[in-house]
Amino acid sequence: MTGQARIIDGKAAAAELRAGIAREVAAIKAERGLVPGLHVVLVGDDPASKVYVASKEKLAVEVGMASVAHRLPAETTEEDLLAKLAELNGDDAVDGILVQLPLPKHIDTARIIDAIDPARDVDGLTPVNAGLLAGGKASGEHLLVPCTPLGCMLLLKQALPSLAGLEAVVIGRSELVGRPVAQLLLQADCTVTIAHSRTRDLPAVVKRADIVVAAVGRPRMVKGDWIKPGATVIDVGINRMPDGKLAGDVDFAEAAQVAGAITPVPGGVGPMTIACLLRNTLTAFKARRG
Ligand code: NDP
Repeated sequence: MTGQARIIDGKAAAAELRAGIAREVAAIKAERGLVPGLHVVLVGDDPASKVYVASKEKLAVEVGMASVAHRLPAETTEEDLLAKLAELNGDDAVDGILVQLPLPKHIDTARIIDAIDPARDVDGLTPVNAGLLAGGKASGEHLLVPCTPLGCMLLLKQALPSLAGLEAVVIGRSELVGRPVAQLLLQADCTVTIAHSRTRDLPAVVKRADIVVAAVGRPRMVKGDWIKPGATVIDVGINRMPDGKLAGDVDFAEAAQVAGAITPVPGGVGPMTIACLLRNTLTAFKARRG
């Protein structure tokens, strides 16, 4: 049973976002005969990565984009992968390039990410895009920022009338989620604290927050009595439980009794991630091809 909190429906928000993107793509196609192209590069046979790439491909096609998955064998060398990226960087029809992570161990991930043209870096992970974000020069409207953090921000902006001045606590400082979401919250004029595994008295830190973003990877770690009454809770965590079900990083049943609004897992941040990838592809198309 859920308590008082309003459930932030990420599935519905993502469907609405994709519908808007589909309308824009159709209008671009009708006016200019062009469609944005998303190219996903997958190296090897990681089963989870295969599933992610297939859903990215499917949803890109659904919004009318040209979607190409480049499936390369596990023994692909770093040089071969760099050559593939150079080919994609040189092709005007390629608007978004995403290299599915993790890469096989023999490949230097940082070197590969660095080789993606920042103008087509729809994962927002290149040093250029991460630097623009850290320097306060990027915004979700105009530049390419990582998809899950962008999804968190869109859900927050939908849930709250204004973010300015609110206390935000982000739990987690990863390159993919914690750090960029903290930068976006700062850009939205929140007062931001980034907590991590060495934070002292995490429950007390979280208790200050009007906005809690949990990106830890520990099932149900954030308890109901850590939450300030009425706070907005965004749960990024996706943890597979022994019974096969998914759980977030927040104890949903407890937190929903105290929070003002909360994302469920599944059905919260998760669906927003691919929708934001499509949005980034459209953003990249518009920035590069006018
Ligand atoms: P990482 O493992 O890269 O980072 C986890 C962060 O949590 C680290 O900064 C770590 O701190 C911190 N942490 C670990 N233990 C604790 C603790 N006990 N108390 C406080 N902080 C702690 O994970 P990601 O950021 O990649 O992912 C986080 C979660 O989000 C995972 O469940 C992942 O599956 C999910 N995820 C969901 C996505 C979606 O689409 N919804 C997309 C990406 C991720 P330290 O730096 O000190 O080690």
